[in-house]
Amino acid sequence: MAPSYIDLRSDTVTKPTPEMLEAVSHLDRSKLGDDVFGEDELTKEFEQEVADLLGKEAGLFVPSGTMANQLAIKVSTQEGDEVICETGAHIANYETAAPAVLSRVQLKTLEGINGVLSAEQIQDAIRPSADWYARSSLVVLENTHNRAGGTLYPISEIERIAELCQSRGLQLHLDGARLWNACLATGIAPKAYAEYFDTVSVSFSKGLGAPVGSMLVGSASAIAKARRFRKMWGGGMRQVGVLAAMARYALHHHYERLAEDHAHAKALAQAFCANPKFRLDLALVQTNIVAVDISPSGYSETDVVGWFKQHGVLVSSIKKNFIRLVTHLDLSKKDIEFVCNLIKIF
Ligand SMILES: *Cc1c(COP(=O)(O)O)cnc(C)c1O
Repeated sequence: MAPSYIDLRSDTVTKPTPEMLEAVSHLDRSKLGDDVFGEDELTKEFEQEVADLLGKEAGLFVPSGTMANQLAIKVSTQEGDEVICETGAHIANYETAAPAVLSRVQLKTLEGINGVLSAEQIQDAIRPSADWYARSSLVVLENTHNRAGGTLYPISEIERIAELCQSRGLQLHLDGARLWNACLATGIAPKAYAEYFDTVSVSFSKGLGAPVGSMLVGSASAIAKARRFRKMWGGGMRQVGVLAAMARYALHHHYERLAEDHAHAKALAQAFCANPKFRLDLALVQTNIVAVDISPSGYSETDVVGWFKQHGVLVSSIKKNFIRLVTHLDLSKKDIEFVCNLIKIF
């Protein structure tokens, strides 16, 4: 058997809990059907539930956050348009250049502060109308911001950006793969964030711990369009209520417990702060991600990742001089204490 590690590489490494699997085995079989024909009642109910939770007309259950984001870009742009996002955005770094391939748009990336762009920055980036300019048609924000270390987007800035987009005729999409973490950390309701956006993507397979699934929500017409492209891209699924049931279980049972992940991240961050070989601003550890500057140690990311692995802990490197730890529901308090002690002796 492979050695068992304490795995802090991502909140996607979780396995379905026994209770989640139990919930699936007890689902109402009569509600399963072929979702490509629109006959899977469990999926349709879940799509409506999440749309309601986010205050939107309709939802579309998709295999991944990547597909949800790319569908949002597809339905909000024309070929040759420009999409404004932050330099570290997931859509610009971790989605295999899909905007260029699937929607034939280019990204205009702006350097934010901890993943946050201001309305002024976005305003300055909107292209004037001329034959030689791309048409700015969509802004994508990310909350929480993955690459910046799980940072929160201030809702006051979102409001200003939404006003700008509305006045300039741009669409606004929220990459909310970790929107649940933002809601839990701030006490702001999902609907209160979502109201500023035309489309929102959320994930069930990150902190919530479902094995598969994301959702795109928006207007009925945007979601109807997205549904066609999901099919075109090979994402039409059949008795997908089986997966929706697990995602629904995760949403109902694992939402409140995200607070534990945030507390665990804080504990890890405090351990890093106490060791001068690391540098980290505690104020930036706002949810379940800890991004640590290891440059004071004099070691490379590879060295540090390797050292932790030798001691039974998996962490990842996100960029030069930075390692990343992500907390999730498969980590116990004991695991976190163990890792804190390792950080102390590094
Ligand atoms: C993980 C992630 C995605 C993509 O989700 P997948 O299900 O892995 O495709 C999109 N955006 C953000 C911010 C993410 O962290």
